[in-house]
Amino acid sequence: MLSVKAIRKDFPIFKRTILGRPLVYLDNAATSQRPKQVIAAVNDFYRRHNANVHRGIHTLSEEASNLYEEARATVAGFINCGSDELIFVRNTTEGINLVVWTWGFDHVRSGDEILVTVMEHHSNFVPWQQMAVRRGAVLRVADITEDGLLDMEDFKKKLSKKTKIVAVTHCSNVTGTINPVSEIVRLAKRVGAVVLIDGAQGVQHIGIDVKVVGCDFLAFSGHKMLGPMGSGGLFIKRERQEEMGPFLTGGGMIREVYATHFVWAEGPEKFEAGTPDVAGAVGLAEAVRYHTRLGMRYIRKHESNITAYALERLRDMKDMQIFGPSDVKVRGGVVSFTIKGIHPHDVAEVLNYRGVAVRSGTHCAMPLHDRFRVPATTRASFYLYNDKKDIDALISGLEQAKHIFR
Ligand code: PLP
Repeated sequence: MLSVKAIRKDFPIFKRTILGRPLVYLDNAATSQRPKQVIAAVNDFYRRHNANVHRGIHTLSEEASNLYEEARATVAGFINCGSDELIFVRNTTEGINLVVWTWGFDHVRSGDEILVTVMEHHSNFVPWQQMAVRRGAVLRVADITEDGLLDMEDFKKKLSKKTKIVAVTHCSNVTGTINPVSEIVRLAKRVGAVVLIDGAQGVQHIGIDVKVVGCDFLAFSGHKMLGPMGSGGLFIKRERQEEMGPFLTGGGMIREVYATHFVWAEGPEKFEAGTPDVAGAVGLAEAVRYHTRLGMRYIRKHESNITAYALERLRDMKDMQIFGPSDVKVRGGVVSFTIKGIHPHDVAEVLNYRGVAVRSGTHCAMPLHDRFRVPATTRASFYLYNDKKDIDALISGLEQAKHIFR
């Protein structure tokens, strides 16, 4: 079992209060908090090693370059890909856009199809919509079942030889639904499609081995996994990299430049134009080490236990509609719900007065809310530093909201 008490000591933010109450942070799907180890790694980079990478032969530049490449190896190891397959990006959104505007634009033609699911975050919808419009391609959307699981029959029906790419989230940021990504890849490969996995809610809570899953691309955000804002990763399988040109162009991504043309670099450099966020990469690697020390299996188990407890307590409340699967085996630590007659923003506001941070709205998943026929939900999302007491604080805040608004 994880010792939440010990873990919380690593997170300076839990020392502060919100409107006089202890902070209960349940907005982890939006962004996580940072442990002192990550803050120290970033701080140490700027205090002792700061220099630009890959350009200088002076000591500091060499140290910064080494730290940057060591960070790449650490983050790559976490998802089990080669260092040459891990590109540093700012976030999941940038990672997905990189794939859309490079591989996508070179491989998707008029009449081809792209398959996503209705539970995608806007970051895994809008870039594909853009590409479909510009390429004359068709965007197909696989439905969900009544309990919020991916409808595999519908998915299979919409997958065909015309499908060039399947883009699917590992874990929904609204219902917590964990998608069967290995099965999705197996089906996609049968029709010759490549697969992008949106790992924004998966990498840090469920864990993923890209070799076992067999996906072509995986995008994730450092800020949602204890790392710095503006850090993130994109796995691109070697074979796919060979089929792709660069995304942004300029310094850093070239091998040779002539007045009229250039030759691009190979490997991750090809996709990392300009000066990278070296401190961000160093901080992200430290965040990865934090997860590895605790163990992904324990993190997953801990979050499952909390989620099961939250579902049980919420189900006991009257007038509550909870979205997503009831079985925590196929659900990550995200619970979205509505209370009959009370607007989700009002719920979030009452909770905030009690120090409880949750999110209300559509969580960048409007198509899914349309599918559920609700304008908005309140979302509580958990991480390794939450415990049952946090859930109790949530429930007592919800009871108060009911009391106020009824
Ligand atoms: N995909 C999912 C499933 C998400 O939950 C999020 C953020 O909430 C994103 C993509 C976008 O992440 P970012 O804003 O870090 O690019």
